[in-house]
Amino acid sequence: MIITRCKTNHFRDPVGFMLNGLTFSWVTGGAEGKSQASARIRVWKETRAGDPLFDTGWAGLDPLGTSADIGLEPRTRYIWTVSVRSDTGEEAESGENFFETGKLGEPWVGKWITCGSDEPRHPAFSKRFDLDESRKIASARLYICGLGLYEAFINGRRVGDEHLTPYCNCYRKWIQYQTYDVTQLLAGGSNTIRAELGNGWAKGRFGFTDSEGVFFRKEWDLIAELRIRFSDGTEKVVGTDEDWTVERTKIWFSGIYDGERRDDTLPALPPEKALPAQHEFPLTERLSIPVRVRETVLPVKLILTPRGERVYDLGQNITGTFRMRVRVPAGTTVRIRTGEVLQDGCFYRDNLRTALSEYVYVSDGREHILEPKFTFYGYRYAMVSGVEKPDIGDFTGLVLCSDIEDAGTIRTGNEKINRLLENIYRGQKGNFLDVPTDCPQRDERMGWTADTQVFVPTACFFSDNAAFYMKYMYDLNMEQGLREGMVPVTVPAFEDMDTSAVWGDAAVIIPWCLYVFYGDRAILSGTFRGMKDWVDFIRRSDCGECRYWGSIFHFGDWVALDSPAVDKSDYVGGTDVSFIAYVYYYNSARLTGKAARVLGAKDDEKKYGGIAGEILDYIRREYYTSTGRCAVTTQTAYVLTLFYSLCGDRKRALDSLVRLIELRGGTFVTGFVGTPLLLPALSGEGRDDLAYDLLFNERYPGWLYEVNLGATTVWERWDSLDSEGRITSTGMNSLNHYALGSVGEWIWRMAAGINPREDAPGFRKADIRPVPDRRLGSVDAVYDSPSGRYEVSWRYTDSGRVAVRVLVPFGCEAELSLPWSREKISEKLIPGEYSFEAEPEQDNTGDQ
Ligand code: BGC
Repeated sequence: MIITRCKTNHFRDPVGFMLNGLTFSWVTGGAEGKSQASARIRVWKETRAGDPLFDTGWAGLDPLGTSADIGLEPRTRYIWTVSVRSDTGEEAESGENFFETGKLGEPWVGKWITCGSDEPRHPAFSKRFDLDESRKIASARLYICGLGLYEAFINGRRVGDEHLTPYCNCYRKWIQYQTYDVTQLLAGGSNTIRAELGNGWAKGRFGFTDSEGVFFRKEWDLIAELRIRFSDGTEKVVGTDEDWTVERTKIWFSGIYDGERRDDTLPALPPEKALPAQHEFPLTERLSIPVRVRETVLPVKLILTPRGERVYDLGQNITGTFRMRVRVPAGTTVRIRTGEVLQDGCFYRDNLRTALSEYVYVSDGREHILEPKFTFYGYRYAMVSGVEKPDIGDFTGLVLCSDIEDAGTIRTGNEKINRLLENIYRGQKGNFLDVPTDCPQRDERMGWTADTQVFVPTACFFSDNAAFYMKYMYDLNMEQGLREGMVPVTVPAFEDMDTSAVWGDAAVIIPWCLYVFYGDRAILSGTFRGMKDWVDFIRRSDCGECRYWGSIFHFGDWVALDSPAVDKSDYVGGTDVSFIAYVYYYNSARLTGKAARVLGAKDDEKKYGGIAGEILDYIRREYYTSTGRCAVTTQTAYVLTLFYSLCGDRKRALDSLVRLIELRGGTFVTGFVGTPLLLPALSGEGRDDLAYDLLFNERYPGWLYEVNLGATTVWERWDSLDSEGRITSTGMNSLNHYALGSVGEWIWRMAAGINPREDAPGFRKADIRPVPDRRLGSVDAVYDSPSGRYEVSWRYTDSGRVAVRVLVPFGCEAELSLPWSREKISEKLIPGEYSFEAEPEQDNTGDQ
């Protein structure tokens, strides 16, 4: 028996993270027994020696989240272990895990410093200090934050391996500082600490500000505190103050959208003295998962285009930066520009809109490896000018991504579906750069709330996202705090943003989904206030008979293809936006009621359950005839009718939906609202066959249409490229937009058949219901759920039966049902491995 995946507040061995309310979790595997009989958590201060500071004793602890009430001290490391006894009496203890507190509320010795911002050359703040050579350094930590972005160095060596710190937040409410273990970087004698600053989200152009606009702050600001502990118990602290020196680097421009410019021919400027900053900022321990280089990608080709351009092709659309070796004569300008697609075989980037997305370098004549520091790009192609004969070996793509553990892998017997799944996960990684974004390349790259909301379940099958999304929810709740409960359409919000149904409902849908996937009540208790505030906000706006919520602008079924508008840039779709708005209002009230029940908040359960009932009545009165016909006659409206059980006459809604699909030649026209729920709604009515038909449809509009056109990520629009591969418009057209990739959830739930259950969240129990299809051929799915590893495989046997294999992890329970089988197999499974063979009553083949 072994214990793995031990986490503190969903982080593995966090150093300097915000730990409001401690929660421990772990996974037990390799046991003879089937379940945990009891467990024991012990916590020590600094080292595992003597009596623990905290000891649960042997008790029935929850492996998905056991909270511990410990008064934490600042800047202190705590060691913890968990021991588990199984029902057969085996016993195992985890290795040592730790968490280390940041400064908590203690005052900073370091002070905010700044420098003149009229000089565009980016500053590097530094300080030289001596350490007594006779004293041994026991440990050292650097607590630091620099705005807009910073990179720190000690004695010329980079501190940590994170990129784009201190990350992207609702800066008005909280700014994250990072804590680094820098023990190995210091030495006796003379030492230098240095921090280079860039613009980033806080200081540069970002969001829908005008091109000169600066979102949060014009100045560069830095605060740092280096604490060195010697083995004799003494301590030295080096903090930022006016004794720090400012030098100007060779980077004279940086921006998230526009890239970076560096000129190595610039002369050194006289050092300046750091200035005291006039501001105090709301410094907070971090919640952001580190952004790191997760992969390197070598070009598959170096293309010479018909226009004579030299273009590196990475063979896939990535998010990140690059490394490029250059050696050109002094004074030469090298320019690297990025794009997602070629047009007529030439470099193209008009769909990035105003984002310059480039790197400009003026050479000092020596060989250098260029690597942008304070920006990122969403790209497949990089065009290089200024280098006479670039070599394919000079360029390496660097994939930057929040460093989240993978959770699921799935392979099917159909290569096109495999490619779609790969594209979905690649797009997820490409849009998980601290904030879950809409897209990584054009002048947006923001945490659009609906994009996030519709994609959460898909994402949670591919990777272990509890901590990543909880940081997003923290921001979302902070933004709500600034707006009396209203949720802006992007989080963080980068201007005075409005709200919209479906977008704002992220406040409720995301935490509920995270709770179902991860089973930790702390997720709900931490976000419950925000859930209620959102529903209360709608209720206040929708007072009385005015029905205001239905009368304002909403984005509706965004990018659906059934808009009656003549104007092609109307993306709202054909489904009545007020209908959608009330359905989501109803759903948010309903889920808030459910969350209240989990948390034991009886009054709230009654209140929000009551609101849900009232809104459902209103929806029925307003949008359904007395005999159950839906007055909104679009595919998405029927999908919503079925998915949310809005009306008693399901058969009629299903018939209407099927008819509209047929009328469209066996395809769909749904957008952000309808698409994620379309296949689930069909499966819910027993029409897996039709759901599979839509998945396998290779014509426009459909997922395989873009796979056939060589997509390596999921497109924003069904027609991002036409059948000749030509970009259809430049106004709003990203080739790396995961929202419509939310079909991944259905593939996991139905094709692989792995479903979490609300009554035993966190996969303590799962419904296993794989649905075979001849065109898919087989599925092999492995899912490291928070409760342990589930596996489901199925394939056709030579005799036309379906062999199904299921693995249920320790401590879990599954209900297997194969209603499509002649034998109507339905079994309760306890931990272990199972094989079944079933005969399909009918084969899903796609043949009519
Ligand atoms: C974004 C979307 C977003 C939408 C809001 C677009 O520009 O890229 O994905 O949700 O605006 O309508």
